[in-house]
Amino acid sequence: MTDSCIFCKIINKEIPSKTIFEDENLFAFHDIAPQAPTHFLVIPKKHIVDIDHTSGEDKALLGEILFRAAEIARSLGLNKEGFRIVNNMGELGGQTVFHLHFHVLGGRQMKWPPG
Ligand code: AMP
Repeated sequence: MTDSCIFCKIINKEIPSKTIFEDENLFAFHDIAPQAPTHFLVIPKKHIVDIDHTSGEDKALLGEILFRAAEIARSLGLNKEGFRIVNNMGELGGQTVFHLHFHVLGGRQMKWPPG
């Protein structure tokens, strides 16, 4: 937990969110500015700045995030037509919130290469 982190505040319910899933290690909620008909974020409760700041001890946590992202996508029916999982890292990666998060987007045709 860091005092200034918006996602830590969401985890601690100091800022409301449209929560989808919560357990001991993870939190998932709908993105406030959706870029697709369905757009949610899966984040660790542990404050990690970005994927570059993960270490060997976070291997299981990273696996949990991807497993849960796919499970939630399935529960929302996104697996029927497909979906995309995105992690932005750093300035060139387009990261704007510095608490590790994976976007899950679905419900429209995705483009490649991404913008
Ligand atoms: P990124 O640009 O990859 O760092 O993604 C940050 C994401 O967090 C953006 O898609 C924002 O719309 C989203 N976001 C920022 N504040 C909130 C919030 N209070 N509730 C839900 N999503 C948020």
